[in-house]
Amino acid sequence: MTANILFAAQSESWDRYQTPLTRALDRTGLAYDLRLDFAPDQVDYIVYAPNSSVQDFSAYSRLKAVLNLWAGVEDVVGNPTLRVPLARMVDHGLTRGMVEWVAGHVLRHHLGMDAHITGQDGVWRTQVPPLAQDRRVTVLGLGELGRACAASLAILGFAVSGWSRSPKTIAQVTTHHGDAGLAAALAAAEILVLLLPDTPATANILNARRLAGLPRGAIVINPGRGALIDDAALLAALDSGQVSHATLDVFRTEPLPADHPFWAHPRVTVTPHIASATRESSASEVIAENIWRGETGAPFLHLVDRALGY
Ligand code: NDP
Repeated sequence: MTANILFAAQSESWDRYQTPLTRALDRTGLAYDLRLDFAPDQVDYIVYAPNSSVQDFSAYSRLKAVLNLWAGVEDVVGNPTLRVPLARMVDHGLTRGMVEWVAGHVLRHHLGMDAHITGQDGVWRTQVPPLAQDRRVTVLGLGELGRACAASLAILGFAVSGWSRSPKTIAQVTTHHGDAGLAAALAAAEILVLLLPDTPATANILNARRLAGLPRGAIVINPGRGALIDDAALLAALDSGQVSHATLDVFRTEPLPADHPFWAHPRVTVTPHIASATRESSASEVIAENIWRGETGAPFLHLVDRALGY
C-alpha cells in the first residue's frame, strides 16, 4: 500500500523541503507518494504548518495523522474538523537554534553589552560585569526547548530556575511546577525567558500581577508566543522601571504592525520571529520517522495532547 503524503505547509518552502523529505522517506523503505496536491479522500498524511492550504479536514476520510513542521500548534490544535493524531515538531536543529538565541540574548543583558556597542563615547569606564553564578535566570516552560535552554544556561554558570506544569528534574536547575510554583520562579528571575506554548492556560500569563512579582529591573526575553504577555502591562512595567528591558521575538500580530509601541520603545528589542526555525534536513527525518511509524503500527512520536493544547 502506498502512503500518500500531502505537503500542505504553505509557510514552509516546498523548494527547501522536497529534496530532504524525499531522501528521508526513501530511507524508510516505504512505498510513498509525496505531492502538493491530492484528492482529499486519497491522503494518508498531511505535512502541516501555519497558514496551511488545508483548514477543513472533513473530506480527508483516510487521513492517519497531521504532522506539524512547527513546534507550536496553536493554529491547528483546536480545529474541530481534525479527528486524527496531531504531531508537533521536535527537531534537533530547532532546539540548538533556540539555545543559541536564548544564550546570546541572556548574555547580552547579563554582560551589559549594549553600553559598549551603542554607548561608545570616548569615556574609559572600567565596570567589570558580574559572573553568571551571581545572575538569576528563570525559564518558564521546561519542554524540549525550555529544558535545553535551562540546562545550557546552567552549564554557562547562571543560577537557573525553571517552571513547568508537571514536576521536572534538571541538573543544576532549581525547578518549580504548577500554579503554586510560579511566584517563586518569577521572584528568582532577574532575567526571565518565556518558552511556554500558547494555550488557554498560558494566555496573558505575564500580566501586571506577575510582572510585579519579578525582581525590580528584571529583563524579559520572549521567544515563546506573543499571547503569553499582556502587552499593555509590559509597557507599563517598562515605563515604571519594574522591567528594565524586553527582548521580544514573538507577537500577538505578526508581522508586528509598524505603529506598534514596541518598535519605538527605547527599552524594547524586537526580533522578527527568528529565534529558531525548523531545519529542513533534521525535520524531514522526524516527519519520515513518524510516517514510517504510522505505516508499521508503531506509536507516533511527539503527539499533541489536544485537551491541554500543546
Ligand atoms: P513543549 O511542549 O515541549 O514544552 C512546553 C513546556 O511548557 C512544558 O514544560 C510544559 O509543562 C510547559 N507548560 C505548558 N502549559 C503550562 C502551564 N499551563 N503551566 C506551566 N507550564 C506549562 O514545547 P517546546 O519546548 O518544544 O516549545 C515551546 C514553545 O516555543 C512552542 O510552543 C512555541 O510557541 C515556541 N517556539 C518559538 C520559536 C521561535 O522561533 N520564536 C520556535 C519554536 C518554538 P510540562 O513539561 O509539565 O508539560
